[in-house]
Amino acid sequence: MISVEEALNRLFALAGPLPSEPVSLLDAAGRVLAERVQATRDQPPFAASAMDGYAVGDASSGDVLKVIGESAAGHRFPGRIGRGQCVRIFTGAPVPEGAKRVVIQEDVTREGDRITLGDRLDRSDNIRPPGNDFRKGVSIDAPRMLSPNDVALLAAMNIPTVEVTRRPKVALISTGDELVVPGEVPGPDQIIASNTFGLHALLTRLGAAPRLLPIARDTEASLRTCFELVDDADLVITIGGASVGDHDLVAPVAARMGMEQAFHKVAMRPGKPLMSGRLGNAMMIGLPGNPVSAMVCGHVFVAPVIRAMLGLGATPAPRERAPLAAPVTQNGPREHYTRALLEDGALTVFERQDSSLLSILGAANALVVRPVQDPARAAGDTVDYLPL
Ligand code: AMP
Ligand code: MG
Repeated sequence: MISVEEALNRLFALAGPLPSEPVSLLDAAGRVLAERVQATRDQPPFAASAMDGYAVGDASSGDVLKVIGESAAGHRFPGRIGRGQCVRIFTGAPVPEGAKRVVIQEDVTREGDRITLGDRLDRSDNIRPPGNDFRKGVSIDAPRMLSPNDVALLAAMNIPTVEVTRRPKVALISTGDELVVPGEVPGPDQIIASNTFGLHALLTRLGAAPRLLPIARDTEASLRTCFELVDDADLVITIGGASVGDHDLVAPVAARMGMEQAFHKVAMRPGKPLMSGRLGNAMMIGLPGNPVSAMVCGHVFVAPVIRAMLGLGATPAPRERAPLAAPVTQNGPREHYTRALLEDGALTVFERQDSSLLSILGAANALVVRPVQDPARAAGDTVDYLPL
């Protein structure tokens, strides 16, 4: 059995970054920027007023000035402000020539076309100089998962399309005679395929394009039929049938279909029967069927693989550290990912850790990572965890 770290390294060896494609800014959020982009203009492109008020030249408290025109957003005042003059101005409007500052309207009294400046003028000049936000040529570097804020910045830079990494296409194959999909009426010996849907959600959130294939029954023919439906997927994920029981067909059938196996079995809990390799043009990951095992392997292995395919680098799932709220017993020979609740800055590991208990996973917001042979830990000891 190999370690989690070694398994990740072997997965990364199979998961290269995918090519890029152009997308409209409207489709760019959640995608990974693949090429550096540069602003094509200064923002603001002219000195702009930061407030509603009056643009004035050299003027001080008590001065009386004549209003000679107006500068509004999108409509500049074409002239120049001379001595004893001012221009009515609004937020975002170009500041006229000759203006030294914008006096906010609250600091002014107006009668007809005359204003009197108040006793205490705002200290700021209320002018945003050209390029105050960013200059032409300023860049956003790749790779970067684009957020809604990034999209706003790209739009301000006048960039209508961006090159992003193609979404990894992932085919999900559940296996088992006992499974039906949610909404179907299960037979007396059947259960609902659950982790399949959890993994689909996880993949979508990561920026992949998952697709559910029909459930493979526990026969070689059925499993082969599903593998043949994989089409042009970058990654095939099977769920279940990965151990060495009589009905666990994934490894032998995949091998007979030509899979080059990279590993089978990892020293971790839950998730020991994990396997991976290359099948045709796709990478293949065989997940254990137990609902929590499959989801934990999703967080520990599938998520970093998808990030690597997106060009975000080959790095393990990010860990954080926090103290334990209650003691934990010593760990055995496999790295243990225990469901826990992080509350008020401290971690409580749930008593029940059976890998069939999705309700405990649902209540958890952290996976506390117990290293191989980690001794018993007391309350207050700091441990690693993966945020969920
Ligand atoms: P297996 O690896 O096929 O032996 O499955 C281990 C356990 O996980 C069995 O109890 C299966 O019924 C269950 N299981 C397998 N696949 C799924 C799935 N997609 N959703 C929920 N439970 C599953
Ligand atoms: Mg099974």
